[in-house]
Amino acid sequence: MLHPIESRTTSPVAAAQLLERRTGVRPQPQPPGGQAGAAAGEDNPWHTGAACRRDEVGLFFAPSKEPTAARLSREEQAKRVCARCPVLLECREHALAQPEPYGVWGGLTAAERRVVLARRRRRDGELIEAARVTAAARARIAG
Ligand code: SF4
Repeated sequence: MLHPIESRTTSPVAAAQLLERRTGVRPQPQPPGGQAGAAAGEDNPWHTGAACRRDEVGLFFAPSKEPTAARLSREEQAKRVCARCPVLLECREHALAQPEPYGVWGGLTAAERRVVLARRRRRDGELIEAARVTAAARARIAG
């Protein structure tokens, strides 16, 4: 799925350039109203309020061989845009559910999303284990 800012660009060329920057793969040309238009359609209504559509597109994805200091500065600027975005939670959950491997989504970098996903997996494992222990205890009491 395209990043909200990509789905909002009016230029398929700009969208293709962003995708190439994001993935390192040159996407197939999309006709106007093609992939970019579809991503902004009714399947993704949370895009409508995306704050990033009004900001510098280069903030959200790293150019190739970006120095660390530049990356940190760029990511902080992107996060400031996300902080005032009305669809931050929807965007973040989308990026976690996919999961989206690149770029800042929902105020989180790709590395931060990996940490969140690892915590969720650990928490889910603990909940499953707790449920198993509880079920075993109930079975013993009932038996
Ligand atoms: S949370 Fe950030 S990346 Fe997501 S739509 Fe809003 S501004 Fe864009």
